[in-house]
Amino acid sequence: MNITKGSIGWIEVVCGPMFSGKSEELIRRLRRAEIARQRVQIFKPGIDQRYSDDHIISHSDFKIQSECVKDAAELEKRLDWRTEVIGIDEAQFLGEGIVDLVVRLADMGKRVIIAGLDTDYLGRPFHPMPELLAVADEISKALAICMQCGNPAKHTQRLVASDELVVVGAAGMYEARCRRCFEPNIANLQKREQATAAAMGRGAENGKH
Ligand code: ADP
Ligand code: ZN
Repeated sequence: MNITKGSIGWIEVVCGPMFSGKSEELIRRLRRAEIARQRVQIFKPGIDQRYSDDHIISHSDFKIQSECVKDAAELEKRLDWRTEVIGIDEAQFLGEGIVDLVVRLADMGKRVIIAGLDTDYLGRPFHPMPELLAVADEISKALAICMQCGNPAKHTQRLVASDELVVVGAAGMYEARCRRCFEPNIANLQKREQATAAAMGRGAENGKH
């Protein structure tokens, strides 16, 4: 029996650490939708303007045109309701409101493809990615290559001292690490070392006087 149904909505999430190929995979899926002549719109948070504010650019230099938004409300405002496929990169920076929005879009029959970091620099779930994974129809978890030992890497290692959740990174601020090589406290260790060095410097100065 061949029953014709209307288009069914769908949520796909691609997650993993930095350098795992999330943007590449997002761009590949969106290109294929464009080749299929579907109406595509692509969004990324305004926070991530490392390379470009009107393109998503992968670390391997693949790129696709995109629009910058600050949160779910702005994304919704920018949506053309004829759009059939919606791509979202760096979804972890768009706030909790994105979860409800993508569910509504999928319920309306749209295909939503989301990429984002599943864990933060301390290895903790990076909200709202866990919620997006829960409402997704399909999930892909990508791994990078550990820059210390070459094993598959699930972690994003921060290389600079900072307690901020978001430090938008240029090259050299983050690298991929496997479970064994991941050092979540490296930033704190560096801070402590700097504080100790500064204190010792002060001590030496005091000694001089
Ligand atoms: P993500 O969006 O997950 O940060 P990208 O799609 O932007 O990743 O970049 C993936 C590309 O980065 C790879 O195809 C490879 O060319 C490059 N790359 C650089 N460092 C690494 C690494 N440690 N592991 C894997 N790929 C890496
Ligand atoms: Zn390793």
